[in-house]
Amino acid sequence: MSTQQVILAARHVHKGFVMGGQKIEVLKGLDLQLLAGETLAILGPSGSGKSTLLGLLAGLETPDSGEIALRGEVLSELDQAALTRYRARYLGIVFQQFHLMRHLSALENVMLPLEIAGQSGRTVRQRAVELLEQVRLGHRLDHYPHQLSGGECQRVAIARALSPEPELILADEPSGNLDQETGEQVMGALFEMVRAQGRSLILVTHNPEQAMRCDRQLHLQHGQLV
Ligand code: ADP
Ligand code: MG
Repeated sequence: MSTQQVILAARHVHKGFVMGGQKIEVLKGLDLQLLAGETLAILGPSGSGKSTLLGLLAGLETPDSGEIALRGEVLSELDQAALTRYRARYLGIVFQQFHLMRHLSALENVMLPLEIAGQSGRTVRQRAVELLEQVRLGHRLDHYPHQLSGGECQRVAIARALSPEPELILADEPSGNLDQETGEQVMGALFEMVRAQGRSLILVTHNPEQAMRCDRQLHLQHGQLV
């Protein structure tokens, strides 16, 4: 056993969906432990439940049974307000479809989580500029999402996810909508920031090369991680 701190633990998690009167079991007694500073890749075919799992780990959905604990706090025991605060403080999420705010510039998108966390003033702007420079977008601060390429949008999304210095980054096929070369640039930017800041990462991908950049690889098969 490692003496490192377990930052995230899933125990016997079951999750299913009822569709047209039929129940689909997606996760079937899934267990997972992630250590502080560890990077983990989750691989699995389309439909195997990878996004469902990330949604549960982020507290965006609740398991049918079993429990998920982030830094020792069982998510299903927090009320909605506490859960929102907890998520804002400890989690950074990167989606396949970027989910940037359309009416905000690149800079404003990255400033937003800091403002939500109650920070204000020059330091917020400074920090957002630094993050955008780290993902090599220092020349695109005032561009809006529709004025940016897909790869640029995803790098903004990565800078945004990391801006409040979350301990854990959850990334759901962050290069899934990008061509190979752009995808590699985006993943390079993500790993650089995660490693430089010593964050934990769960990366959902079906690209084995990207998965190999993580400390550990698990496959989602038949509702469990192997
Ligand atoms: P992956 O991300 O691995 O491609 P998902 O987690 O998105 O897989 O989906 C796993 C399975 O659960 C799929 O069969 C999908 O159709 C089903 N599913 C996911 N979300 C819902 C939902 N909200 N309602 C009904 N079925 C869902
Ligand atoms: Mg998915």
